Amino acid sequence: MKVKVISVLEDNYMYLVIEESTRDAVAVDAAVPKRLLEIVRKEDVVLRAVLITHHHCPFVGVPGAHCPVLSPSRAQRSSLSPQFGAIRVRCLFTPCHTKGHMCYFMWEDGSLDAPALFSGDTLFVGGCGQFLEGTAEQMYTNLTQVLGDLPKETKVFCGHECTVRNLKFALKVEPENEAVKKKLAWARQRDDEDLPTVPSTLQEEFLYNPFLRVTEEAVQKFTGRKEPVEVLRALRTEKDNFKKPKERPHPQAMLAFDWGLFAPFLEKK
Ligand SMILES: [Zn+2]
Repeated sequence: MKVKVISVLEDNYMYLVIEESTRDAVAVDAAVPKRLLEIVRKEDVVLRAVLITHHHCPFVGVPGAHCPVLSPSRAQRSSLSPQFGAIRVRCLFTPCHTKGHMCYFMWEDGSLDAPALFSGDTLFVGGCGQFLEGTAEQMYTNLTQVLGDLPKETKVFCGHECTVRNLKFALKVEPENEAVKKKLAWARQRDDEDLPTVPSTLQEEFLYNPFLRVTEEAVQKFTGRKEPVEVLRALRTEKDNFKKPKERPHPQAMLAFDWGLFAPFLEKK
């Protein structure tokens, strides 16, 4: 299972997951659908589904789509473990950044490749999403139970490139944390070379991501709280004031896209 990282707009990611022997493919998020389509064509794969992690619009229209397009609300209603060709998916409901936010865990049966988590705007490399439509309690459940319990070798592919900014904040929280320093130096270098910092692994995230480290003494000390949910809430508030993130384009950009254009690339039923 190969994951193609597609950088679009200022800092958005789209992904194309490809099972190499069958050429089955599943896309995650589609901020610039035309670009996705170009990649589908170039890779010569059969697009089995488009999965959307979240959007900031109540409605996602997908006229003419001939493969399943799983918006977060559709994903919630569908099977928890759909299968698209050789690619297995587990839909993980992670409300907080948006009310309907979904993460997608993917793997391939019988493959030795590490599974992949498409975490949208819930878990970032070195950070987590803003609590736009939810609570610290929800994000705590998302990070510790829903995502935190996945296999540690899981590769993390998130919705935006914001690693350097996140790790600068992580360093403020834990100035002595060597894992933060090391990852920040690496991320800065990747940034200079205009290379993505995804994927990380869940195991790594637990070493430097303050939002996954709310029971660590240094993180508790920074926030002046002890109770994990309260630590998380205080961390998020601090991060929101650390550097206001700019308004960014989100997957709702896909609203304007004619999904019928996908038709030639989909397998005829
Ligand atoms: Zn978002």
